[in-house]
Amino acid sequence: MPRRDYYEALGVARNASDAEIKKAYRRLAMKYHPDRNPGDKEAEERFKEIKEAYEVLSDPQKRAAYDQFGHAGVDPAAAAGGGGFGGRGPSFSDIFGDIFGDIFGEGGGGRSYRGADLRYNLEIDLEEAVRGTTVRIRVPTLAACEVCGGSGAAPGTRPVTCRTCGGHGQVRMQQGFFSIQQTCPHCRGAGVLIERPCPACRGRGRVQRSKTLSVKVPPGVDTGDRIRLAGEGEAGEQGGPPGDLYVHIRVREHPIFRRDGNDLYCEVPVNIVTAALGGELEIPTLDGRVVLRIPPETQTGKLFRLRGKGVRPVRGGPPGDLLCRVVVETPVNLTPRQRELLEELGRTMSGSGGRHNPRESSWLDGVKRFFEAITGGR
Ligand SMILES: [Zn+2]
Ligand SMILES: [Zn+2]
Repeated sequence: MPRRDYYEALGVARNASDAEIKKAYRRLAMKYHPDRNPGDKEAEERFKEIKEAYEVLSDPQKRAAYDQFGHAGVDPAAAAGGGGFGGRGPSFSDIFGDIFGDIFGEGGGGRSYRGADLRYNLEIDLEEAVRGTTVRIRVPTLAACEVCGGSGAAPGTRPVTCRTCGGHGQVRMQQGFFSIQQTCPHCRGAGVLIERPCPACRGRGRVQRSKTLSVKVPPGVDTGDRIRLAGEGEAGEQGGPPGDLYVHIRVREHPIFRRDGNDLYCEVPVNIVTAALGGELEIPTLDGRVVLRIPPETQTGKLFRLRGKGVRPVRGGPPGDLLCRVVVETPVNLTPRQRELLEELGRTMSGSGGRHNPRESSWLDGVKRFFEAITGGR
């Protein structure tokens, strides 16, 4: 079971505000608090998960690191560098248990851990999202140390089973009437001890590396979609399997088109002459230009739908539409002659009883009635 996404664990959107995160945390923490669910293992797990997610997402720095690099960005073991096995703070493992994911074998010789899943945020342009693309990305990750083969022990030596916990990584402590399970203080939960740490990785078995990967982005993806690259996450600990890499897609704002699902929207400025008399306009679409016929007397806000000129969905199905919204543009920087023409036009329109500007004149009538009503009788 891969570690859950923190936003998912709290049930909030990726752009949730601090207040929303806090609210979601409070609600879930109340629901799953161990005191309210005595003996319920599942609730306890959920509670830990929620707590961990909140600790990261409520801290702006940690949240930014998580958004960029996923779990690896906020993993204290990955960030500690050079601390050897001691680099993993005992308080952390006490609170959260095993942070490296699933425990695989739990034989007498210790345990091995699946590597953490990684998250990579990939920004692409709308054109790339619509047509699909292949992107090369560099991912900082933890790879198995080549010198010790990932065991963490100096070449020629082997990790030895911890005698305090017999390799289980956990010890039982008697406290009054209770017997509680705790992370072994001697090996800090690893189940093994490294007497002579590998000099290359300082006993951690993994080293910081960055690798270049080629990611195939299928046509039709949108912000929020993610692409899984199996086995491209962090190397496992002590020979465990690697995690996965999740590439999260974010589509950049486009200067012309706004996307909503599979539909594209754009605003088309139209001059007053074309709007009044009608005409033809060249409209950009993602597959080239098309000509849009503007009928006479077109008003601002009129929406023209070009069927099938939107986005073909990534999971198949018919493409969306392109919707062009007309915005009539008032002319600017008039020459004296143009001003003259407009003034003349204005004179021909006035006194026609709103024949040429029905909206304006009915609005003016409404305003007049409104003032008559409030001053009525005086
Ligand atoms: Zn090593
Ligand atoms: Zn131990």
